[in-house]
Amino acid sequence: MKTAVEVIRKLKAAGFEAYFVGGAVRDFLLGKTPGDFDVATSAEPDQVKAIFDRTVDTGIQHGTVLVLTGGSGIEVTTFRTETGYSDNRRPDKVDFVKTLDEDLKRRDFTINAMAMTEDLEIVDLFGGRRDISEEIIRSVGEPDERFQEDALRMLRAVRFSGQLDFSIDEKTLGSIRNNAALIRTIAVERLKVELDKIMANKHAARSIGYLIDSGLADQLPSGEIFRTDWSGFIPTPDPLSGWLYAFWQNAKDLSALTAYKFSNEEKNTIKRALDAASIEQWDSWTCYIYSSKQLEFAAALTDRNSGWIRMKENLPIHSKSELAVNGRDLMEWTEKKPGPWLKELLEEIERKIVFSELENEKDKIKGWFLNEYNRDK
Ligand code: ATP
Ligand code: MG
Repeated sequence: MKTAVEVIRKLKAAGFEAYFVGGAVRDFLLGKTPGDFDVATSAEPDQVKAIFDRTVDTGIQHGTVLVLTGGSGIEVTTFRTETGYSDNRRPDKVDFVKTLDEDLKRRDFTINAMAMTEDLEIVDLFGGRRDISEEIIRSVGEPDERFQEDALRMLRAVRFSGQLDFSIDEKTLGSIRNNAALIRTIAVERLKVELDKIMANKHAARSIGYLIDSGLADQLPSGEIFRTDWSGFIPTPDPLSGWLYAFWQNAKDLSALTAYKFSNEEKNTIKRALDAASIEQWDSWTCYIYSSKQLEFAAALTDRNSGWIRMKENLPIHSKSELAVNGRDLMEWTEKKPGPWLKELLEEIERKIVFSELENEKDKIKGWFLNEYNRDK
């Protein structure tokens, strides 16, 4: 926060207005440590760049310049409005404006539409403080208009409900019900970002309750997977744990992986964790071939056998790279050329070590190996 205050002071010293805005003000009033500090200013991007030595053009077309100070970056955005929204999702055009008020008016919810000076004075035009104390998410202005401008806001309302453990104001919720179908106009990448945040919410079940109650789930790709009993779900900061719960509860219907363009890494983790959760008979080798993360996910799904994770920790080795020998050693000992035999023998050694039938020491492995190899000849 100190560096953000310095950024504000510097902008003001240069004759511009500057404030904390958005989530940081909300979190500050909630007594939480904000994840990041966003600054809004009357200075235009070129003017911001002239004031600070080190800046990055992260979103200059939207008026955002990242100011690098000390170890961190502060996003500084020129006061702006958004006009157009002919497609319910993206402003046709971003206009810089002169006043803070106009900038705050374009923001989504009252709790996100406050500003704060560097002396911690709050600018609250829409009753954000009241809504924070009443724990309510309420649109700025007419919800119908605001959701028709940008339909993603409906999902954001649902996301904030579980992030903050707030309820959605009746009128705002009614409007989401009426406009739910507009969510179809939003790109799946943007939906995935919000759904990931919902899955990682401290009160994920509250968000998902709203997702269903508002009718949004019916409009979302693979939306039926959200309609399940979430009482057994224990949220974690990793969104995959929520997705996994949904897949597990829905007989592994994985259509969402394609629908939301999950990355290959995410797909792999999900499939492996579901596999692991289905295994009945566990032994050292099973623990060995799944990563600790995958075992953790699997244990959370099945509500049993977190012992797998301890079992994994206690294994003599945890991956091939820890083997005391490699293919080159085997070739040296046998004077044979590489071939499929190498992989087979290495895996046999690996298994023996994992099952503690052989010690992971080069000499011991060599002794066992030559004995075995000469016997087979
Ligand atoms: P978090 O702490 O979870 O990041 P946040 O409030 O900072 O929450 P962001 O998505 O980072 O949320 O957005 C920053 C601010 O920008 C919001 O507080 C809000 O004022 C504004 N904002 C973001 N997205 C929209 C949107 N789709 N429509 C209107 N205002 C928005
Ligand atoms: Mg933020």
